[in-house]
Amino acid sequence: MYPNKEQENRLYELMRLHKALYNGALEQRLLAAGFRPHQFNKRGRLITGWRRVHEHRTFLNKFDQSKDLTLLRRELPEYGGMSYGSSQTTLIRLDIAYKRFFKLGAGAPRFAGRDWCSFDYSSGGKGLKGNGWKLEWSGSNKGSVYLSDVPGTIRFRGAAKPLNCRQLGVILRNGRWYLQVVGDRLPKACHGTRTIAIDMGVSKLLTGKYDNMETLVVPKLAPMHAAKKKLASAQKDLGRKKRGSERYKKQAAEVARIHAQVARLRKHVHNDVSATIAKECRTVITETLNIKNMTAHGGAHKKGLNRHILDAGIGQFLTMLQYKVQERGGDFIVCETRGLAPTQRCHACWSRAPKLLSERVHSCTKCGVTCDRDENAALVMLQFAAPNVAKRQGTLL
Ligand SMILES: [Zn+2]
Repeated sequence: MYPNKEQENRLYELMRLHKALYNGALEQRLLAAGFRPHQFNKRGRLITGWRRVHEHRTFLNKFDQSKDLTLLRRELPEYGGMSYGSSQTTLIRLDIAYKRFFKLGAGAPRFAGRDWCSFDYSSGGKGLKGNGWKLEWSGSNKGSVYLSDVPGTIRFRGAAKPLNCRQLGVILRNGRWYLQVVGDRLPKACHGTRTIAIDMGVSKLLTGKYDNMETLVVPKLAPMHAAKKKLASAQKDLGRKKRGSERYKKQAAEVARIHAQVARLRKHVHNDVSATIAKECRTVITETLNIKNMTAHGGAHKKGLNRHILDAGIGQFLTMLQYKVQERGGDFIVCETRGLAPTQRCHACWSRAPKLLSERVHSCTKCGVTCDRDENAALVMLQFAAPNVAKRQGTLL
């Protein structure tokens, strides 16, 4: 979203009010349930946890608190000025946290701190408007949103135009404002006709083999390299600054900004590539994600970090791909890596061909076949899944 200064200030204020509302509602529940804050510091702020001291307990639910919200709105103009539906979703958020705590054994709800970064608007009717909000697209990928408690309309960019919006979220991340739209999407056109097996890579994004033996290689994009370089140098600079100093904080914000930039870029590329594959293929075959096999040797620290980055990246891509393929009614088949071991097998004679990660070429000692390592893996998966593919397509046709 691109709010102007006035709108941005209002959004910050709303963020603060929602957080205060959440914390207030949590406090109210704790007090009613017989808890009392245990210890205060000099400023009167709570520093340690809450203890149950009263025998008398009342458990408040979201309906009780909604009633109190109405009173609160009457008394405090700050809250009166907020969208009612929107403030209610914050109470519901607390209610959900409680339900998770009681029913699912999740941790007890905690007071929101700096991590509080979003608030929602609830649904109302059908289409692109709801309780105190309205969305409008003015082009293929831009539009504006009206929020009843923010002056004017806020411009935004985004192509994912839904059919019905059920919920709207406002998210603040790294100093940027985002709009999250939950809703039903227009059904996309049908899937394609091809079948592809995909091997996810480290040095390239992926290697694919189509059923007609054509190869698809998607390299890591050049802008990605540039952005990563920038990130590495910014992180190096951060290491030179004194921890906790003003300069350190400033540099840390810069690192976070570049991090977000890299993530956005990666997501963009992943969206593009997965959309293209989903469009032209009916069946997509991959293996279970196993980052351990993909991470090169290195120090324990570096290994952990690499794994983390790879994990997030490849996981994101496969999730997108699966969603897009299935959205079009196609099949997404996942081979069990452990039993099949596509990289450790020869596609021609099916014998095991163990190799290190550094060996980029598959050359079989049994039958003499030589080809690219990743292409071999994709071919193995393609053959392995073939009966499955035939079965599915046969029953579906
Ligand atoms: Zn062989």
